[in-house]
Amino acid sequence: MAEILVDKLKEILKEGKLYLNEPMKRHTSFKIGGPADVLAVPGSRDELINLIAYLRQEKIPFFILGNGTNLLVSEKGIRGVVVKLSSLRNVIVEGTKIIAEAGASLSYIANVALVHELTGFEFASGIPGTLGGAIVMNAGAYGPEMKDVVEKVEVLDENNNILILSNQEMKFSYRYSILQEKEWIVLRAWISLERGNYEEIKKKMEELNQRRKEKQPLDYPSAGSTFKRPPGCYAGKLIEDAGLKGYSIGGAKVSEKHSGFIINTGNATFYDVLNLIEYIQKVVKEKFGVELMPEIKIVGEK
Ligand SMILES: Cc1cc2nc3c(=O)[nH]c(=O)nc-3n(C[C@H](O)[C@H](O)[C@H](O)COP(=O)(O)OP(=O)(O)OC[C@H]3O[C@@H](n4cnc5c(N)ncnc54)[C@H](O)[C@@H]3O)c2cc1C
Repeated sequence: MAEILVDKLKEILKEGKLYLNEPMKRHTSFKIGGPADVLAVPGSRDELINLIAYLRQEKIPFFILGNGTNLLVSEKGIRGVVVKLSSLRNVIVEGTKIIAEAGASLSYIANVALVHELTGFEFASGIPGTLGGAIVMNAGAYGPEMKDVVEKVEVLDENNNILILSNQEMKFSYRYSILQEKEWIVLRAWISLERGNYEEIKKKMEELNQRRKEKQPLDYPSAGSTFKRPPGCYAGKLIEDAGLKGYSIGGAKVSEKHSGFIINTGNATFYDVLNLIEYIQKVVKEKFGVELMPEIKIVGEK
């Protein structure tokens, strides 16, 4: 990357941080992924907006990174600038609403809701992503999804205008939001909750997290459910019924604990996971005629 670009980025990111040739495996829950040319961590909302305006003006490709928990990144890594939002994590409470920046973790927001005795966000407390990533993915667990609690979302559009989108304008559906079609960046969101009781909220969070520990292979790196749920059935069940539980390619393995998860048993490569995904899709299609669609996002130079 040209010296001048790095100097300019340093000028924009006064409070933020810049890393060159940063291995993406340090920033993904799969612990897979080669270098990003540049990883930029804006220190504030203004720095993020200025950075994006500059990158767009100079036509430098960029990728927005939340907590990297839904990503499979290639070994060659990501060209251009990966913009990590981990410093944009302010959370404020106004009555029964929580207004949170995109980089705030769901577990932290859930904890704020608990402390303020607000109910409705318990489902998200064990999802390991950020608010921004969860809104893009319409993340959900045990019934509720982000669409049930998000009132409105503030985004930076492709022309660097700030827009507020209502819940309806987000066009949320199962693991989908309009943001998957746009180059828009979530800045913050308004989460609408209800008054609740501290002990009950805590109990519900603990119960859901216990279920997660029992059912999910949390002791191995993964990106959560590999595939979306096909209509009328579960991906994990189809994979298991196809005889693929425990099946592995290189270091990538169909979890014995939950067949819906591919885990990294230690040294899985990008292609181990990708080949396993494609193999599962082929076998499930042959046996049951069902097309499994990846839920995880596959990114980077192939
Ligand atoms: C152990 C485990 C359990 C999981 N359980 C669940 C579960 O129960 N339910 C569920 O739905 N998911 C689950 N996931 C998947 C994942 O945690 C969610 O999809 C989560 O919402 C992703 O958030 P993230 O911040 O990590 O996003 P990332 O993985 O960093 O990014 C995901 C996508 O969102 C984009 N993005 C991120 N932030 C922004 C932003 N501010 N503006 C615009 N685009 C943005 C990225 O560019 C990328 O395309 C699980 C994952 C793991 C590893």
